[in-house]
Amino acid sequence: MVDKLIASESQVRSYSRSFPVVFSKARGAEIYAADGRRYIDFLAGAGTLNYGHNHPVLKEALLEYYAGDHIVHALDLWTQAKYTYIEALEKFILQPRQLDYRVHLTGPTGTNAVEAALRLARKIKNRANIVAFTNGFHGVTLGSLAMTGNAKFRSVAGLPMAGSTFMPFDRYLGRDVDTLAYFEKFLSDRSSGLDHPAAVIVEVVQGEGGINVASEPWLRGLQALCKRNDMLLIVDDIQAGCGRTGKFFSFEHAGVVPDIIVNSKSLSGYGLPFSQVLMRPELDVWEQGQYNGTFRGHNPAMITGAKAFEHFWGDPSFEREVGRKAQVLRDGLRSLTQALRNYDIEAEERGLGLMRGIDVRSGALAGKISAEAFRNGLMIETSGSTGQVVKCLCPLVISDEQIDEAVQILRRSIGKVLD
Ligand SMILES: *Cc1c(COP(=O)(O)O)cnc(C)c1O
Repeated sequence: MVDKLIASESQVRSYSRSFPVVFSKARGAEIYAADGRRYIDFLAGAGTLNYGHNHPVLKEALLEYYAGDHIVHALDLWTQAKYTYIEALEKFILQPRQLDYRVHLTGPTGTNAVEAALRLARKIKNRANIVAFTNGFHGVTLGSLAMTGNAKFRSVAGLPMAGSTFMPFDRYLGRDVDTLAYFEKFLSDRSSGLDHPAAVIVEVVQGEGGINVASEPWLRGLQALCKRNDMLLIVDDIQAGCGRTGKFFSFEHAGVVPDIIVNSKSLSGYGLPFSQVLMRPELDVWEQGQYNGTFRGHNPAMITGAKAFEHFWGDPSFEREVGRKAQVLRDGLRSLTQALRNYDIEAEERGLGLMRGIDVRSGALAGKISAEAFRNGLMIETSGSTGQVVKCLCPLVISDEQIDEAVQILRRSIGKVLD
């Protein structure tokens, strides 16, 4: 099977190079290769499977929906599924957090929603420029790519990328440099060369950028900076949202309220393609049909998404459990940084909730640890500008035993690679 796939699939393939087996089944936090080998899944669709693979409650809702000949595709027509979804979003997510947003169901991928959010911000402010941050990742279609720092993707844009200016993320210039003061200086000096931005787009925890966590004061400062300077605050919660950081929205920790939010990845709860833009109601300046797409809101994904809101977020113990597991994982990973220090590697553990990583200071080393872990039954990816961060995105429904097993595998892998 592997030979046939290698011969037929474009060289552009990526994850299958790090994890070169054929997968066949998965349940919860475990994924199985066709030969029956079991792996604990700390990749989890790069944060798409927050509730694990094939969660039984979501699966039942989905199978029932298909079996009943309900609507699968409907452009952006009203469907019962859409009503169910919007009702659940308001009841279980927005109202308990006293948030008021309108919903734009865009094309099904994260970058589709980012593109729509950028276009909306530019339309509202009638300005082209948008500020993005160093090491940010917002997708690879041209508009989103202009906001993405990653050189690998930018180098094949094929066209000049326009409409973005990069500013340093929190702590990008070291712990002692206030990067917001730097940003504000550019805004206040009309000869700085910075065209007045319509908006800023930011990840609260940079996922692809290497688990860089924006501090709460920094985020509150960014919100205030946006208000003072008439810029919209867009939070890209595609990877850090849907409970990944321990709260439904990653910005809840800091208490900020974005003007525009973008969600995707775990939004359907089941790995189905699904994205949305949330906008403060007064920002909904779209005219009818001014933005479109054939696949706007995947109806089966609305069913599983609504069920996930109800089942997980309708129960206050879920958030507490995620918080508790985050501590278990953090303690495990911190013990590994100690182990790495014994080899004179100044490793750092960091993250928020169950979005965590160990910066081992070397992409080559992180890659070796990931490869060795995979040989021992743990699928775990690397991220960061040089791939130097071993990145844990385990499903939120993982058990303590599975976390423990994964940490043990990492410990053995670090020993094997460095001894
Ligand atoms: C994955 C991701 C995207 C892009 O989503 P796609 O579905 O791959 O287009 C954008 N922003 C963030 C923060 C992401 O993690």
